[in-house]
Amino acid sequence: MIRAGLLWLSEQSRIFGFIRGNGLARRLAARFVAGETVEAAVAALQGLNASGMAASLDLLGESVTSLSEARAARDTYLETLDRIRTVGADANVSVKLTQMGLEVDERVCVENLRAIMARARSYGTFVRIDMEQSAYTENTLQLFKRTFHPEFGNVVGVVLQSYLRRTERDVEEMIALGGRVRLCKGAYQEPATVAFPDKRDVDANYVRCMERLLERGDYPGIATHDARIIAHAKAFARRTGIAPQRFEFQMLYGVRRDLQLSLRREGYNVRVYVPFGGHWYPYLMRRLAERPANIAFLLGNIVRESLRRS
Ligand SMILES: Cc1cc2nc3c(=O)[nH]c(=O)nc-3n(C[C@H](O)[C@H](O)[C@H](O)COP(=O)(O)OP(=O)(O)OC[C@H]3O[C@@H](n4cnc5c(N)ncnc54)[C@H](O)[C@@H]3O)c2cc1C
Repeated sequence: MIRAGLLWLSEQSRIFGFIRGNGLARRLAARFVAGETVEAAVAALQGLNASGMAASLDLLGESVTSLSEARAARDTYLETLDRIRTVGADANVSVKLTQMGLEVDERVCVENLRAIMARARSYGTFVRIDMEQSAYTENTLQLFKRTFHPEFGNVVGVVLQSYLRRTERDVEEMIALGGRVRLCKGAYQEPATVAFPDKRDVDANYVRCMERLLERGDYPGIATHDARIIAHAKAFARRTGIAPQRFEFQMLYGVRRDLQLSLRREGYNVRVYVPFGGHWYPYLMRRLAERPANIAFLLGNIVRESLRRS
């Protein structure tokens, strides 16, 4: 119930103005978001690199409603790639198709992505296409299979979500294609017709898909903070002779830093997903939905602040 409510709130952009003014919400966001500027994000990733971890920078913002917003986001990504190159950091970028204008004009969205991928290719780095709500899954995978992967090969990769019933099939298709996959559980509110409602099924599907990707995938990203699943990945790789260099663990900025560091110390590749930018509201709400313990605290504080102001 709480998770569903928070995920609903994450899609109500009008509430953002109200939440944004709240001091605690901003402090909580700062735990999960590196800052509002490219410079802040690059500073965060240099800190991660110093601890031996790689990063993927994500400019927050999704579902843009105009082509000028989409082009501005594209330009920020180009600037981000330039900055990563200039400082010599170990990082790539993660991009959402709806931020590049998918819902406004698919042709322009593709052009925006091509510009980012061409720049990434010229720098020898990589672009991950994040996966959004299930309404976009088919289109995202078709664009990947028909356009981006044929044109850019392994400069580009996708994300698959284990909560979707279709994902086992998509994993097999990506393995056959040689496409690079980040596997996550999935962060959005989805109907039972397309997604498993029971978390145990989501976790079991994650393990099945992860084993296939470890065995047959091209450098899969195992994106989870689930300690049990991470232990399973390590044991499975050891048992089947898969070297740690053939995959990487991925986690979110500000989540389970202890686990990120201990995996790195054990010799595993670890990449941290570093979001930055002013549009942090939906991202923060999705992170709260994953950890409802923070919510009562946040809501109590918001009510107290608004009573004080009135
Ligand atoms: C690198 C990366 C990229 C991602 N990209 C996408 C994407 O493109 N599309 C998409 O839909 N989703 C994406 N996600 C989000 C993902 O789908 C999950 O919503 C999120 O990772 C939580 O699931 P979990 O696997 O960590 O497992 P869970 O079962 O949710 O959590 C396992 C444990 O991790 C810890 N934990 C998890 N979340 C939090 C939190 N917010 N705060 C504190 N502790 C926490 C807790 O200890 C919890 O018990 C991404 C996640 C990662 C790590």
